[in-house]
Amino acid sequence: MIAPFVHNGLPGRVVFGPGRLAAAGEEVEALGKSALVLSTPGQEQMGRDLAAQLGSLAAGVFPGAAMHTPTDVTAKAMAALKESGADVLVSIGGGSTVGLGKALALRTDLPHLAIATTYAGSEMTPIIGQTENGVKTTQRDMKILPETVIYDPDLTHGLPVDVSAASGLNAIAHSVEGLYSRDGNPVISLMAEEGVRALAAALPGIAADPTDPEARTGALYGAWLCGVVLSLAGMALHHKLCHTLGGSFNLPHAQTHAIVLPYALAYNAPGAPDAVAALRRALGANDPALRLWEIGRQTGVPHGLKALGMQQADVAKAADIAAQNPYWNPVPVEREAIEILIARAWEGSPPQS
Ligand code: NAD
Repeated sequence: MIAPFVHNGLPGRVVFGPGRLAAAGEEVEALGKSALVLSTPGQEQMGRDLAAQLGSLAAGVFPGAAMHTPTDVTAKAMAALKESGADVLVSIGGGSTVGLGKALALRTDLPHLAIATTYAGSEMTPIIGQTENGVKTTQRDMKILPETVIYDPDLTHGLPVDVSAASGLNAIAHSVEGLYSRDGNPVISLMAEEGVRALAAALPGIAADPTDPEARTGALYGAWLCGVVLSLAGMALHHKLCHTLGGSFNLPHAQTHAIVLPYALAYNAPGAPDAVAALRRALGANDPALRLWEIGRQTGVPHGLKALGMQQADVAKAADIAAQNPYWNPVPVEREAIEILIARAWEGSPPQS
């Protein structure tokens, strides 16, 4: 029987499919008169090509986006935005560039067209994490949610296989936790199961051929759905652990998620039978945690947290921090059990459900 629930759907227009970057001009015109294009230094050429495509609709390019949305970069982008006179923000890139677009939208309430080129899913959420003097603070506000998103898989063919895999497993983690979230519902579960199915089918295909259009399209479709799940459902142990590991031990965001996910799922599985059933269907495997670990092994995810440079002595410290502030989880968060979980993730050995 379906239990009573509340669903808070978020607005947003999605333009999806190979070649859809061609629609960028129409989408800018629907939002305003001229756009400031944002990118990282590494994707500056992509940003400049887009500005050339937009022609008179482009007011300038700011190619300075950086990881974790540092506020000093945002201040420089604010100055460039003012000088350009643009009334639309266009971000082309991954979570870092979309994050800069969100930071500017939060400060100006200008409309934002996000063109996503990784599987991070940030473009679907009204959430931003900003860093000032090394401290990251997270905020939720509807001004942060991009008005329009273009997903064009053609833009992702150059995303390296290991980055694609880590980013894709990070997206899967949103859906895994969405499936057992306290504020989940049947609609969120539908999107989560389909998102996991699409990404899990696509990632090995990308590892085999990074320019396989079917695999790239499937992965971006899955990433979109997983991003929606992140925007709608509260997260639990897995996200808290990764937040602790990233924040306290400076481990890279997507790779940490990709490594920890099978162990966090194995830990939570006994308290989340419906989620496990959905994941069995989505992954076509009896042991979803083991299957996610195998996908990591097949696609170049680093083997254990030790491969990211985490010290063995920090395992106990991480367990202390993760168990410090209690939070909701389908299975009680117990200090000793969490240390075993992190120790397994550090070693990279197969998860034990
Ligand atoms: P990223 O945006 O930092 O991109 C990683 C690198 O890959 C960058 O140098 C980028 O220029 C390059 N790149 C991106 N797409 C490419 C492509 N198609 N081809 C070649 N190179 C490409 O990484 P990410 O994993 O997308 O985003 C991580 C950031 O996003 C983190 O700061 C994380 O906190 C944030 N994030 C936020 C949310 C949210 O809802 N607020 C959700 C997920 C992630």
